[in-house]
Amino acid sequence: MYYGFDVGGTKIEFGAFDQSLNRVATERVATPGHDYDLLIDTLAQLVKKYDQQFGVEGKVGLGIPGMEDATTQAVLTVNVPCANHKPLRQDLEAKIGRQVSIENDANCFALSEAWDEELKDMPSVMGLILGTGFGGGLVFDGKVFSGFNHVAGELGHTRLPVDAWLSLGDNAPLLGCGCGKKGCLDSYLSGRGFELLYHHFSGTQRKAIDIIADYEQGNQFALEFVDKFIEMLSMCLANLFTAHDPHVVTLGGGLSNFALLYEELPKRIPKYLLSVAQCPKILKAKHGDSGGVRGAAFLNITQA
Ligand SMILES: [Zn+2]
Repeated sequence: MYYGFDVGGTKIEFGAFDQSLNRVATERVATPGHDYDLLIDTLAQLVKKYDQQFGVEGKVGLGIPGMEDATTQAVLTVNVPCANHKPLRQDLEAKIGRQVSIENDANCFALSEAWDEELKDMPSVMGLILGTGFGGGLVFDGKVFSGFNHVAGELGHTRLPVDAWLSLGDNAPLLGCGCGKKGCLDSYLSGRGFELLYHHFSGTQRKAIDIIADYEQGNQFALEFVDKFIEMLSMCLANLFTAHDPHVVTLGGGLSNFALLYEELPKRIPKYLLSVAQCPKILKAKHGDSGGVRGAAFLNITQA
């Protein structure tokens, strides 16, 4: 049995998956965001409850909005304040007497997609989230690749390529990022970036969903803006594909619902790749909101 926890700022979602990776239990509880001992107890009690229900010791994975410091094992997360700078994984291990895996929630999203029935034989899968922020995860042979510092897949904090910057025109904005740097992809390719850029070029604040509705109704400004945005996105994704060369790419987050991306990206990306490279298949994520909990559970899969 595989147990996954998607630990969010307001709620914790628990899921139990059997050996065939079918979900056999789900539970949601409020996150005790300001009481660390209660947070550990809440996680431990759920593990105990489902161990009793299934008569096994489930393997436990945690997906968190942040990451575990590779050196100190302290968790860095602003969304769950009580766990910030605490060794969450180690403290839970001590409490429940077994090994626990922990990963960034974007890596869990990518892992969940990579274990989809249709993709599980792919040697590599890149999951990208175009949501409030832009982030991703890399899965090789069914395992998250988290790297030396656990920051592999933090693609949102790589910088905008110079051709993408130039494609935005003379008055392209240099957008600041939550990480303290400027020009991070997170500020340009996310749903938030889509709205920020629209505001910059139009002088009007509109939600992404309304800009897309304008586009679909043939509004001239929206047509030009969306065209410019998708070209910039194509350049940025081509860069990431050259660096990682994934076999398949899945898109999640709010902007991934924009159907035009799946028509236009495969047409536009090849001209920014090396001439020997083909654009990988770009698919819409299949597991949506349950990606975090599925991926957390699948951190402990040892065989197909
Ligand atoms: Zn950044």
